[in-house]
Amino acid sequence: MRSSLAALSGAFILLSCATATREQGLVSRAADAMGGAQALAAVKTVTVSGSAKWWEPEQSEVPGGEARYSAEAKFNGIGDVATRSSRFDWQKDFAYPAPRSFTYSEIVTPQAGYVIGIDSNGRNAESLKANPPAHSMSGYRLATTQRELRRGSASGLIGAMLANPEAVHPAADLVVQGRSLPSVSYQGLIVAFDPQTGLPERVRTLDYDNIWGDVTYDYVYSNWRDVDGIKVPMSRKYELNGRMVQETTLTQVRFNQPIDGSRLQIPAGVLASAAKPATGNVPYQWVLRRQFIGTYMDSDNVSYDAKGSPGLRLQELAPGVFHVTGGTHNSLLVEMSDHLVVVDAPVGDAQSMWLMNSTKARFPGKPIRWVALTHHHMDHAGGVRGLLGDGATLVVGPGAWEHFNRVLRAPATRNPDLKQIDLIRTPIMEVRESHVISDARGRQVILYHLDNPHAKGMLIAWVPDAKLGFVTDLWSPGTPLPPKPNPGLLAVVNAVKKAGIQPERFAGGHGGVAPYAQLTELTGQ
Ligand SMILES: [Zn+2]
Repeated sequence: MRSSLAALSGAFILLSCATATREQGLVSRAADAMGGAQALAAVKTVTVSGSAKWWEPEQSEVPGGEARYSAEAKFNGIGDVATRSSRFDWQKDFAYPAPRSFTYSEIVTPQAGYVIGIDSNGRNAESLKANPPAHSMSGYRLATTQRELRRGSASGLIGAMLANPEAVHPAADLVVQGRSLPSVSYQGLIVAFDPQTGLPERVRTLDYDNIWGDVTYDYVYSNWRDVDGIKVPMSRKYELNGRMVQETTLTQVRFNQPIDGSRLQIPAGVLASAAKPATGNVPYQWVLRRQFIGTYMDSDNVSYDAKGSPGLRLQELAPGVFHVTGGTHNSLLVEMSDHLVVVDAPVGDAQSMWLMNSTKARFPGKPIRWVALTHHHMDHAGGVRGLLGDGATLVVGPGAWEHFNRVLRAPATRNPDLKQIDLIRTPIMEVRESHVISDARGRQVILYHLDNPHAKGMLIAWVPDAKLGFVTDLWSPGTPLPPKPNPGLLAVVNAVKKAGIQPERFAGGHGGVAPYAQLTELTGQ
């Protein structure tokens, strides 16, 4: 009897040791601080309204400068715990890259995502075909949205951690502005708690940014209020490497209100062919940040519409002059006598590796010796690392040297498309007014700096023997011109005049190729 009692108490002690880990303690303390495990488990539906604002650091006016304010939005959301489904209705007003508004809804279930309405200037074939416009989310977008929804609800997150203790693991404490926050890891998230109140304070992911390499992306909760017996953080912000990039304010939250389940339904026809959430290397920052500025192409290929485009290709515009096209963002490739010149390194290193491999096959023995960037924005410079592997010199506009010197030194161990290569010795050349790249046979590629309304230190490229220019974001050749010239188009015309060149055609970082005369006819110059 005595021995069995001893064995029983021994087992009890073992059991308590096994459950009361530091991590479990942090999670239960958070649950208590939020209203208790029972209150969290009783949540069946969530209804929420609020507003949000976005800033995009890598669409800045100045290289490495202040983030660009890009958009604000109002939203209404509903969530159903049993089916793990949610719907957000958005009214989003953009200031950048141009003022416009998108009204759309996002339905997300564990199996699929669905977008009703137009949410981007970069619409894919599925959205363009649908009447009224709608499309299923790519696997990339679905996985990304699901990740953000997981940390979007503090009560949902802590409730899920309580229900899945086996998925809660130790993590190093986050240290934020000298404060050490006890932390745990849960399904790819690092959840850090306020040591005073025990409430969750920030939820971190370790992401890859195509400009800054390895980055932290934190969701920070504040302004806790009691809602139906549960504490809710009414203010939230996202910090990218410590810089605020999104601010969200909840104006109303309710728990266990009746919701209309039909509003959470994805049509059966859509569901049948919709992508499952992507696993593995999801380009989270690309998916999120393109949505910051309303230009996201919802696709499981970051460079082009996987369901609507045959993919990237080299289009020869003149002997040895190629437009790297087929995607949302283009570059220019010029074959010199013993090397290659590339202008722009768009999207990311997946696209750059495609180009690198294509040049190895097509131009054996000719390394990419020059990589020139028209400007520093992430969508036209995010593949810079992947093009520098042959030992190229990076050519940038005035004022951009220091920015790119920092970029090339930033750790990039999480780059899914490229093993980290040491780029510290990459020569960076800052163009003042112009720079001539030439070869033994006299072919030239000339870069000109131009004043413009888009970004400081921009360059255009000029291939004299092909009478061809290359321009990004000021003019997208081949796309319809506005009825009156805008400041971007005027900047191109002024730069051509100042340089004293006579282009016949321009190719674009967006769009295709068009006669330069289209611009001069429009501007009357
Ligand atoms: Zn730009």
